[in-house]
Amino acid sequence: MADHNATQRGASEPRIDSDKLASDLTERFRQVLSTKRMNELTTRSVQSRSASPAPRDFGTLQPPSQPHNAPPPSYSSLRNIPLIPQAPQDARSVRFKNMLHSLSNMPIRWENPGLLDEALRVVPLEQIYNEAEEESQILQAEAESLGAGKKAAWGYQDCVIRALLRWFKRSFFTWVNNPPCSRCYSPTIAVGMAAPLPDEQARGANQVELYKCSVEGCGSYERYPRYNDAFVLLQTRKGRCGEWANCFSMLCRAVGSRVRWVWNSEDHVWTEVYSVHRKRWIHVDACEEAWDKPRLYTEGWGKKLAYCIAFSADGAMDVTRRYVRNPSKWGLERTRAPEAVVLHIMDEIRAMRRSNLSKQEKFRLEGEDMREDRELRQYVISSIANEVSKITPEDILNGSAATARPDPDAQKALESRTSGSTEWIRSRGEGGRGASNQQNSRDRDHRRDHTR
Ligand SMILES: [Zn+2]
Repeated sequence: MADHNATQRGASEPRIDSDKLASDLTERFRQVLSTKRMNELTTRSVQSRSASPAPRDFGTLQPPSQPHNAPPPSYSSLRNIPLIPQAPQDARSVRFKNMLHSLSNMPIRWENPGLLDEALRVVPLEQIYNEAEEESQILQAEAESLGAGKKAAWGYQDCVIRALLRWFKRSFFTWVNNPPCSRCYSPTIAVGMAAPLPDEQARGANQVELYKCSVEGCGSYERYPRYNDAFVLLQTRKGRCGEWANCFSMLCRAVGSRVRWVWNSEDHVWTEVYSVHRKRWIHVDACEEAWDKPRLYTEGWGKKLAYCIAFSADGAMDVTRRYVRNPSKWGLERTRAPEAVVLHIMDEIRAMRRSNLSKQEKFRLEGEDMREDRELRQYVISSIANEVSKITPEDILNGSAATARPDPDAQKALESRTSGSTEWIRSRGEGGRGASNQQNSRDRDHRRDHTR
């Protein structure tokens, strides 16, 4: 009943219009979230919300010196060999370092109360909170039916993000490969790059792709400015994975979650959200409406990955092992820098992001890093155990390793590939290196540039 609340108030009071009630509620959500965030921000470091330096600045940035009593490296390379972090020595490693530093700025740009407040004006908060409430009650009931002391699969805030994800993919953001011709609505063909116009540049687009209408008599040109500013994306509401991940991650932050922006060296970006309920980072891909499906890219899309690096306002982490469970099968060779250098770069970015945090806060985050490292190491161990368990006595006698038997987890990831998302992946041209990836290398270069 729409005006259930209104009738409860008694006959003497005027009837309250249900639309008005809904908008009041939404306004209250906004205020609560906004105040909560302000409180967090003021207790946070000044560093993490101060204007981020331009990417170029990092070339000359001195790495923070390692404290004498630095703890042993809290995580190791994919091969689980303990390594001592080492400063980059060669030009290639320095380039990788500068690039990672520059990428690490993305989540800092969301630590802006004005932007986050504006974002909350766009999100249908009441709908999202209602859906989250309903789902978390169902999950709670399911857990209770399994017996006392059983924990719900996901907590309330996880359900908020899940609802946000559904709304974002289904009703808010649009995928655009080639923009259609605005004169005759026909498909267009990529013809290269154009210099940004002043108004495009003012709105943060440094790259503009140019497309030509495929109809001979028309020949119109379409511009596709690649906006990198989450505020602008709230209005344009379209793009490829870069725009999707940028805007969606910012919205997760706006509704009060801790968020990470994950950069992948094979041209993809996505989100991770911290689940307080599960005490771990959860993979979220807005383009795919994927929640906690980290094996999607490898076993699902058949894509090999080299680096997946997660950046947040208070840290950086090489999370490749979460996405590449079986490095011998799905890992690409990591050639951008020696592993000890990658460790060093992560330490450096973390130290920079945390430099103004309190001792307790730093300690808490270090504990979290160590927990996550154990989690990531566990993935590799179970993958190896799984491989070993598939070897049969015949394999040993014949001297061949098992390859034919299916991995049950891989099977699960494959299911998500065949559940109707194939069309979507093909339409996006994101389906890994296999037959579904029809994009030419120039187009891929655009995307690669864009994710930066
Ligand atoms: Zn046309």
